[in-house]
Amino acid sequence: MQCSTYAFENTAEILSFLKKKEANDPDRRHEYGRYSNPTSTVAEQRIADLENGEKSLLFASGMSAITTTLLALLDSGDHVIIASSTYRQTKNFVIDHLARWAIEATFIADGSLQGIEDAIQPQTKLILFETPTHPLRRVVDIERVPELALRNGILTLTDATCATPINLRPFDHATDLVIHSATKYLGGHNDLLAGAVVGQRELLLRIEKARGVFGGVASPHDAYLLVRGLKTLALRVQRQNENGMRIARYLSTQDAARIVHYPGLPAHPDHEIAARLFSGFGGVVSFEIRGSMQDTSRVIDALKIPYIGPTLGGVESIAQQQAVFTSLDEAERRKDGIPDNLIGYAAGIEDADVLIRDRGQARTQADAHPERGGPT
Ligand SMILES: *Cc1c(COP(=O)(O)O)cnc(C)c1O
Repeated sequence: MQCSTYAFENTAEILSFLKKKEANDPDRRHEYGRYSNPTSTVAEQRIADLENGEKSLLFASGMSAITTTLLALLDSGDHVIIASSTYRQTKNFVIDHLARWAIEATFIADGSLQGIEDAIQPQTKLILFETPTHPLRRVVDIERVPELALRNGILTLTDATCATPINLRPFDHATDLVIHSATKYLGGHNDLLAGAVVGQRELLLRIEKARGVFGGVASPHDAYLLVRGLKTLALRVQRQNENGMRIARYLSTQDAARIVHYPGLPAHPDHEIAARLFSGFGGVVSFEIRGSMQDTSRVIDALKIPYIGPTLGGVESIAQQQAVFTSLDEAERRKDGIPDNLIGYAAGIEDADVLIRDRGQARTQADAHPERGGPT
């Protein structure tokens, strides 16, 4: 509903509303758009149902969901454990902002359970991880992380943006909170920005209060687009899983692709974990070509079907060369495991044969016109 305020009939209605608000009655009416909106409430309900969670909260973006959640749950002096491959802006928030409030973080290697165990301190309040990760598609054994956390009274927060509720149900594996950038697969059409947190009502209450203060709510129109997008989530993800697998298999037969990072391939280091936890391996394939930074740019530029850009999860395929898109210098890229020749390919719902033919012609084009483009 395109509306910022919800007028009351009279003072008696306000008083009755306030009583319900005081008691956190979930069935209370709406008041003001920064607290709730009927369309957002529908989106929240659908996302909670998809994740098999008790409740969900919608935000203006995935980053708004992450920052509000961390600020609501952490206190000065707390310690968090976070994988070093976590989404860049999440890392920046931890490094540039949480540190200013004396909330310390230990960054651990992708998927390393030993790393988590070694990093646990008495002050550790929260473990945050993504699965699968950008850009190397590492998969954390989320059956084991909550076990470790529970033993130490630590909350676990899973950013399952790339997994989607179709491929993975983190709550089946006892995680405390699930986060999504709904901008990606949940919305699915590259036309909205939103984020969501899912978890138990009790835990979400603090986050909901913080959202009312920080104000990062999704716009009603974005919530509407999200509800609409969710109707086709299962179909889209099914197709993207198929396309991801087809493209990964094709690339792994090509000499020009040196390494293909896709958890659906038996050669991927986490294939066994992914096969156990996931019902599909997703639409994102990362691969390293045989060639330099410039050769890689030429391949990207010669692709005709995917857009060139920094997102994933939409119906349109999108490709990007991470080394060009990131603001990191060469040493930092190396440290973060982003080789110059790495291409991230987020498959849309197009016909896989067409995508594969496009990749074939791009290779030929790039070989035939080495003078064409690409930053040096
Ligand atoms: C995109 C993304 C985010 C941030 O979401 P926005 O909606 O862009 O704010 C967080 N985590 C992951 C894994 C993402 O891919």
